Amino acid sequence: MNSFQETIYLGNDAIARGMLESGCGFLYSYPGTPASEILPGFVSQADKEGVRVYGQWVVNEKIALESALTIAATGMRSAAVMKQVGLNVAADPLMSGAYLGVDGGLVVVSADDPGPYSSQTEQDSRFFAMLAKIPVFDPASPDDARLMTARAFALSEQHSLPVMLRPTATLCHARQNMVPAPLLHTDQTPCFSKNPHRWAATPRHRFVLHQQLNQKLAAIGHDPQFSFSCAPRGNQRLAIIASGFAWSLAADIIDAHPDLQAQITLVKVDLPFPLHQPSIDAMLADYRRILVLEETYPVIELQLGRREQVGGRLDHAVPDAGELTPDLVKSIIYSQLEQKPPAPPRTRQKTIPRRPRLCPGCPHRSSFYALKTALKNGIYAGDVGCYTLGLNLKALDTCLCMGASITQASTLYQAYATRSDAPVPPIAAIIGDSTFFHSGIPALVNARMEDSRFVLLLLDNETTAMTGNQPTPASGLRANGSQGPKLPLEEIIRGCGISRIQVVDAYEQQLLQKELVAAWNYAIHPEGAIAVIIARHPCMMDPEARRSARRATVVVSDDCTACGTCIEEYECPALIADQTGTVRVDPVTCVGCGLCIDICPFGAIIATGNGQDR
Ligand code: SF4
Ligand code: SF4
Repeated sequence: MNSFQETIYLGNDAIARGMLESGCGFLYSYPGTPASEILPGFVSQADKEGVRVYGQWVVNEKIALESALTIAATGMRSAAVMKQVGLNVAADPLMSGAYLGVDGGLVVVSADDPGPYSSQTEQDSRFFAMLAKIPVFDPASPDDARLMTARAFALSEQHSLPVMLRPTATLCHARQNMVPAPLLHTDQTPCFSKNPHRWAATPRHRFVLHQQLNQKLAAIGHDPQFSFSCAPRGNQRLAIIASGFAWSLAADIIDAHPDLQAQITLVKVDLPFPLHQPSIDAMLADYRRILVLEETYPVIELQLGRREQVGGRLDHAVPDAGELTPDLVKSIIYSQLEQKPPAPPRTRQKTIPRRPRLCPGCPHRSSFYALKTALKNGIYAGDVGCYTLGLNLKALDTCLCMGASITQASTLYQAYATRSDAPVPPIAAIIGDSTFFHSGIPALVNARMEDSRFVLLLLDNETTAMTGNQPTPASGLRANGSQGPKLPLEEIIRGCGISRIQVVDAYEQQLLQKELVAAWNYAIHPEGAIAVIIARHPCMMDPEARRSARRATVVVSDDCTACGTCIEEYECPALIADQTGTVRVDPVTCVGCGLCIDICPFGAIIATGNGQDR
């Protein structure tokens, strides 16, 4: 591919492109939807065009940002990429990094999920930028994101500050034609200038650094490159101030409705924090009404002040939660003009949403079934990943945040053991392998130190499944496909002070149930401790695992009594009940794992034909 030809880019690839066009040589990330494709895009584009870079998956976002800050302290350009909830994990280095600043350019990409579609919250990373006091760019389209990445690096170096780029989910996964610029080949070499007052600043010096940070922000807030004011045309009295993807939505709607064009001025804010002060003053003086459209929180709106003439999330002119959709934005704009929106051209057929489910053949389904069968009436402390869907199977009672399952199980044990005379109910923590590496390890050390008793069911599908099968340190695979050292889970768990570790194939339903019962008996015994069961089986989305998976041709015989067990308790998408409750297997969806055969209490699900190799 000639890199200067117009090409279609995915939003996340466009951001990666912007980094490479800016000479960013180091990128660190923990996978999280909607940001997961940025690192692979960075590595593969650099590789294809012969540019030497270092891009790596790391075990959590705090480490990603600490690594990027360290590279930027040596004068080179670096980036840390995460999703919005990952920014919570990276909050500590973010706050401190803003004070210490950088020598090379540093861009923090935090991708937000208005909606939210695959996240625990729909928090707005721009507020985090405000809290940390760093500038934040809000791109409106993939190409905008590419160009803003370059501007973010330039601003970062101009003011020696980390700078944030905040794309949202729709932009990350949108595709757009663009003409890429050549990649910047840099031969930057690290040069760390010793300056303990800055890089190891004591509280006294931190106060000075804070004052310097305030001065930098004030200068950026008056930089003409971030001006957005625009005088009214004719007798226009409504201005829409918008940023990010919300601007694109408003621009498309105004473009498609000529009646709006004469009545509204639409302005785009590239840098929602710090907001360009002279532009705020000019807009407030020029317009009778200002509507602020932004996702997700009222970051711009708050900087305008709560004035009579300003509408947005704060006065409920815009709903104060949720994604901005085209229909919603259209109705908001027309209601600001006190007009009715034109009737939609045609009615769309409504689709009935189905709740998300684990894939057919997913090993987690088998593990959850074994858990709730073996440890009946237990408390199941869950975690973040595909396996949060264990909730559907009634095998998950909590899900707080990454790595919290172990701490919650430990704390529940302490609460029951110390504050109740009744026997401690079976307690299990359920965590995936990637989440365990992310933040489960320190939680396990703490739980062991507290001498807590529970079963840790570690669902090891040997990948980070939910975000697209990125490798974990257990495989030792790096982002560019090269092989690094492997860090087996068993050894790490042993290093946390746990001696009872069983490894069971998650497909071995009976064995798994037996081992779970034994594990709890061990844990609750006076001489016992935390018992770990690693339920290991590859993710069904791993192409290699799919190829080598066992295959059975499964059918439901006439013995089906329509009891509903396989549908309600097992919830495999390949099992379909008709109106009478009788079940059949959908041959298109079924992957032939044969796991459902063990679930039917009437032996009605059977393997047949030549594929009885289960
Ligand atoms: S992606 Fe993998 S882990 Fe996730 S539900 Fe599907 S099979 Fe299970
Ligand atoms: S568990 Fe067996 S008997 Fe019950 S609905 Fe399913 S196939 Fe029919």
